[in-house]
Amino acid sequence: MKVTAREQIEDFVIEDIICDCCGQSCKGPHDIFEFASFSAHWGYGSGRDLERWDCDLCEGCSVKVKDFIESLGGKVRVLEELPWPDQGSEELLAEWG
Ligand SMILES: [Zn+2]
Repeated sequence: MKVTAREQIEDFVIEDIICDCCGQSCKGPHDIFEFASFSAHWGYGSGRDLERWDCDLCEGCSVKVKDFIESLGGKVRVLEELPWPDQGSEELLAEWG
């Protein structure tokens, strides 16, 4: 016999995302978050040996990071999804800017 009890499960929702660079909210119009995430997990043998990095950036700061990467000669890839995923959902690779 199973004895059951009603259990209230806490549900967490993201109320806001704060840019780790400028401190501004990443919440855009209609309460939609517009942000970029930067994360890294360095393994054994790396110079950072098991460090984990995580950073959320607002759109303005993301563009500054993109510009910085490009100033170093790097490139930021932009992936565009087709508007109807069930009709050929391949991601397209495009240049940003
Ligand atoms: Zn910012």
